[in-house]
Amino acid sequence: MKEKRIYLSLAHMGGREQEFIKEAFDTNWVVPLGPNVNAFEQELAAYVGQDRHVVALSAGTAAIHLGLVQLGVKAGDEVICQSFTFAASANPVTYLGATPVFVDSEKDTWNMAPEFLEKAILDRKEKTGKFPKAIIPVHLYGMPAKLDEIRTIAQKYGIPLLEDAAEALGSEYKGRKCGTFGEFGALSFNGNKIITTSGGGALICRTEEEAKQTMFYATQARENRPYYHHEHVGYNYRMSNICAGIGRGQMLVLQKHVERRRAIHQLYTELLEGIAGIEVKQAPHQDFNSNYWLTCITVDPTLAGVTADEIRIYLEQENIESRLLWKPMHLQPVFSENPFYGDGTAETIFNQGLCLPSGSMLEDKDIHMVVSKIKEKLKA
Ligand SMILES: *Cc1c(COP(=O)(O)O)cnc(C)c1O
Repeated sequence: MKEKRIYLSLAHMGGREQEFIKEAFDTNWVVPLGPNVNAFEQELAAYVGQDRHVVALSAGTAAIHLGLVQLGVKAGDEVICQSFTFAASANPVTYLGATPVFVDSEKDTWNMAPEFLEKAILDRKEKTGKFPKAIIPVHLYGMPAKLDEIRTIAQKYGIPLLEDAAEALGSEYKGRKCGTFGEFGALSFNGNKIITTSGGGALICRTEEEAKQTMFYATQARENRPYYHHEHVGYNYRMSNICAGIGRGQMLVLQKHVERRRAIHQLYTELLEGIAGIEVKQAPHQDFNSNYWLTCITVDPTLAGVTADEIRIYLEQENIESRLLWKPMHLQPVFSENPFYGDGTAETIFNQGLCLPSGSMLEDKDIHMVVSKIKEKLKA
């Protein structure tokens, strides 16, 4: 077994993060607001473009939660979620007493299937008398969802979109950054994402008014009076100025990290080409410019002679971390009673898929090593 473990995706510092943290200490801005927070927000807004306003928060989950609050989601409402995702996409819906309604994926992007989105909207209207309050499409593993089709349907029924772009910072759809298509867009800076602030997130807003409102809710919804006065329920979701210091350092290497992840995906594609039963997930065409946060493969056991999980176990024995895909939400015990619209596509992908080590720290020789171990398993 190799001594040095190859990890799926690790935090990758650029080198200057501690300068920004030191500055925060030197000026005693050790609070959940301050110059690093402001600068990080401006740098993110400049990066995603489209004149968006960005509010830095304590987590991506908090960003989704505050997006839903501002879309007016309340107890008894329904919100359409992509089933094939991490639980943090759907959990905030339940925090508000609303119900996630799950929609299956399509094969091209592995994201929300427009066909089932429309079926779900119409069926919910028929069954409950009202339309779902919001739609949360996800750009899973960095791959942009079919945004044109999804937006057309959302507009047809007047339902707002909250993009879960937690895995898609730097990804583009038709040349425009993911997270800027919906009414709101959520980003994550958790330890394993494209960039990290140790933990953190951000909400992308269309207007300065919405950004101010997001900050208001993120700081306990305190009204502007000399005493503490509250007319709304608030949250404690603002990002720490220390964490934002890490974020500023990470912004200096963000584009490099995105390019490295894309290069890793390209290398896997070349090295795994022509192997029966193994396919590296690709973008359907040029409109979908994934950041390839994680490179995913699907394994057809009838052709490859092994399952995705057998490959995972073999790699683990070789001190290489890989991971099965997100288990769809409609298959999770916690959401077993929730409505679901689909044809089993996400379940099929889940059963065959595997995420390979994709961190921007990995060197080409690590990727060669992973592939040679996969080939070893296939021959065995
Ligand atoms: C990471 C992630 C989140 C949540 O972000 P946190 O910062 O961990 O709260 C939400 N959705 C998806 C798809 C994610 O991968």
